[in-house]
Amino acid sequence: MKPFQYTKAVTQQSAIEAIAKPGVKIIAGGTNLVDLMKRGVTAPDKLVDINNLPLKSISLDKAGQLHIGALALNSTVSESPLVLEQQPLLAMALKAGASPQLRNMATVGGNMMQRTRCAYFYDTTMPCNKRQPGSGCGALEGYNRMHAIFGTSNKCIAVHPSDMCVALAALGAEVTVSSRKGSRVIPFTDFHRLPGDHPEKDNTLADGELITGVVISNNKFAKNSYYLKIRDRQSYAFALVSVAAALEINNGTIKEARLAMGGVAHKPWRLYDAEKALAGKPANEESFNQAAQIAMQGAKGYQFNSFKLKLAPAAITEALKHAAGIA
Ligand code: SF4
Repeated sequence: MKPFQYTKAVTQQSAIEAIAKPGVKIIAGGTNLVDLMKRGVTAPDKLVDINNLPLKSISLDKAGQLHIGALALNSTVSESPLVLEQQPLLAMALKAGASPQLRNMATVGGNMMQRTRCAYFYDTTMPCNKRQPGSGCGALEGYNRMHAIFGTSNKCIAVHPSDMCVALAALGAEVTVSSRKGSRVIPFTDFHRLPGDHPEKDNTLADGELITGVVISNNKFAKNSYYLKIRDRQSYAFALVSVAAALEINNGTIKEARLAMGGVAHKPWRLYDAEKALAGKPANEESFNQAAQIAMQGAKGYQFNSFKLKLAPAAITEALKHAAGIA
């Protein structure tokens, strides 16, 4: 590992000043960054530890919006009575992620910033446009069983590994960020990006910006939501396919639906057309099957991941059935 400097930021402003310089990275839980540094995938000159910043709170405002600080631990959020009562979908997704030990270290902001688990990205002897732009993509013609079926490019077919982010995309959360230029809000679905010609960029965070938290608007999905994760083993495995499903149901009719998938794209994949198709329909298996077929439009499999083309619609239907209470 390349030698690096390490400092602790004591104020948000000092953290922002520190990360305004090139070669500086933020560290909080470090559950992904330290692995990346050990393997030589990333080699910052300096780490700024932000664990002392006051960004750990979870609160509800008068409008019913849930505010979660960027440094709130994944385990704390998943067990928070406020989250369990107001946004249980988020708690379900967090509990499906990683292991209890990792959830005790990982933060909300770090979860958003974690990088793909594409094996070629971590193997510095292999070509990877994300790690080294212009070097090629080992996965395109390689072992691509875990890879994307939506929104791919000929430069990269990696998936975003988070479960939490799939729930936050479905719930229409917003990300708050701060930098020397001030603060701004990024819709969660715009935070992560598709690979296009620049797979080295995972998200739309500008240089020098610090994630300060996420905000989830008041909604009526608490009663009918479900996170389904399908993986090779029951714990500590990344999703082959996951589905965050949230429904508002009135007298058996769907008033509003929210759907997002994990394990299928370079970003949490929101299923807008399927959501529209569900609005006004009865909350039954037939509606869910139709929505699942609509959701799969534009999907494309590769040599080893074409099984996802069948697995994904089945998972959507199953998640919706659980959300509606008819599974
Ligand atoms: Fe790299 Fe993306 Fe290709 Fe994986 S899929 S090898 S991350 S460019």
